[in-house]
Parts: sequence; structure tokens; C-alpha cells
Amino acid sequence: MTAAWTEHPATSLRWRPGDRLDALDTRSTPGYTGRKRAAKVLRAGHADDLSDLQERLFAHGRTGGVRSVLLILQGMDTSGKGGIVRHVVGMVDPQGVRCRGFGRPTPEEQAHDFLWRIRRALPSPGLLGVFDRSHYEDVLVVRVEELQPEASWRAHYDEINAFEAEIAAAGTEIVKVMLAISPEEQLERLVSRLDRPEKHWRYDPADLRARERWGEYQAAYQEMLDRTSTDVAPWYVVPADRKWFARLAVSELLRHTLRGLDLRWPAADFDVERQRRLLTGG
Ligand code: AMP
Ligand code: MG
Repeated sequence: MTAAWTEHPATSLRWRPGDRLDALDTRSTPGYTGRKRAAKVLRAGHADDLSDLQERLFAHGRTGGVRSVLLILQGMDTSGKGGIVRHVVGMVDPQGVRCRGFGRPTPEEQAHDFLWRIRRALPSPGLLGVFDRSHYEDVLVVRVEELQPEASWRAHYDEINAFEAEIAAAGTEIVKVMLAISPEEQLERLVSRLDRPEKHWRYDPADLRARERWGEYQAAYQEMLDRTSTDVAPWYVVPADRKWFARLAVSELLRHTLRGLDLRWPAADFDVERQRRLLTGG
């Protein structure tokens, strides 16, 4: 923690029972008193630490350890999920990262339970898994677009909690991040995609539909947070109208999580001095 943080994001951004999404100021920077430039410098300054912690995790996995980390990113279109992958996850060695985005289920995926494609994408021991959208779409878009009967998506809350408890018990540390933007900020981001030909590929006319149902999505997010923020897999709600804050906050959450694993460098399973002698002919 540096002077710019008055409270660690793992505390200030953690979802608590009774919290209201509609009361969140998406332009706020909870616990952080600095500004944009300082935030970028601060995040860059922690790059080596983040990378070192991730390498410990990787080394742990290579030497028989069972721990892994799963970062789950949720948020409305343009909330900055991709930017987190690029600018935060991109700070560590890509060899130790498994990123996976979840779109509309393929026919093969549809033939299975909603957690089937999720299980197949879970990080193996030692890896940092990143989900750009996730099984939570099954209580978000599926609910709002009425893709399944209510009784069926409602059952997902308990199924998700049981699933996450199971993978946490098997060694995966789960960090769930909701990037919260305002409809005004989304409008600006969508317009700027239209303004720049090099961003047209990012624009999806279908996103307008979700935008029209903003209130319904907010209600779905509210219930998701209320029902699935657990001790083994808490939700962090990150105000994301300021991309620099969201990126700083998520990098701190990731660092905090990796540090919490308390992993040491694996001890050599050979005689170091003997190897040194053999190597140098001494
Ligand atoms: P993007 O993240 O821009 O690649 O968009 C992915 C799209 O897939 C979003 O519109 C999601 O709502 C949609 N999607 C993801 N999971 C599901 C799901 N389980 N059922 C229906 N649509 C989904
Ligand atoms: Mg999209």
C-alpha cells in the first residue's frame, strides 16, 4: 500500500450484503486519492512484483503444487474487460496465463449443462486463468433475454455456488470482478467505436439491445452479486468509468490474491553444490 490508497481495494471494493448497485458512483475511485497519471505510474511500479508472484505460482504448479488462480471478469459491453486482459493480465508472463472469452454457446456447448464449457476452461495447477464473461452470463443475458424459463436460470445461483466451492476446495483461488460503468459512459465508448474505423470491428450492433435493457441488466447484476458473493469466491465491484482506476484496482486485487497464496520458491530437489562442482569442473 502506498500513500495514494487510503483503503485496500480488497476491502473497499468487496461486495457486502445490503450493497446497492444503483447507489454506486461509477466515476468514483474508492480508497484511492491519486489521479490518472499517478495511477499509471503506481501500476507500472508494481509490474515486477506481480510478475514475480505469478512466476512463483507457475513454479509451484511445475513442482506438484495444486494451487491456481481464476480471475472472472463481468460487465456490460465496453466496460473494459478486454482492457483488463491487455493492460493488467498482460503484465505477467503469457506462458502462465490461460485466457478464455465466453460468447453465445455453440451447438456443442448447448448440448451440455451450462457449466460444461466452464469446467473445460478452468486453469490447471500453477496457472492464472482469466474469463472474459463466464458462467454468470447464465444468470444475466439468459435471464434478461428470457433464453430459459425462470425456474431454470434461478437454479443456477445455487449451482454456481456449489461449483465454485468445489473448485476452491480443489485449490483454485477465485477472484470475481464486475466492472461497473454508467449508461452515459457506455454511450461515449460506443460512439467512439463508430468514430474510429480501426474500432469498427469492436462494435456489435447487437449490443444496442443490451443497452436498451440497462435497468433489467442492473437488476440481474444486483441479484447475481447478492446471491453469489461468498467467502470462497467474493465479488469485487469496480467503478469503471475511469479505465485507469479499474486497471489499477484489478492489478491490486490480483497482486493481493497471489500474495495471499503465500507461495515460496520451490526448493531444489538436487544437491546445488554438487551440481555447481560438476558444472564448473571444480
Ligand atoms: P463479447 O464479449 O463482445 O464477445 O460478446 C459475447 C456475447 O455472448 C455477449 O453478448 C454475451 O451476452 C453473449 N453470451 C455469453 N454467454 C452467453 C450465454 N450463456 N447465453 C447467451 N449469450 C451469451
Ligand atoms: Mg462485444
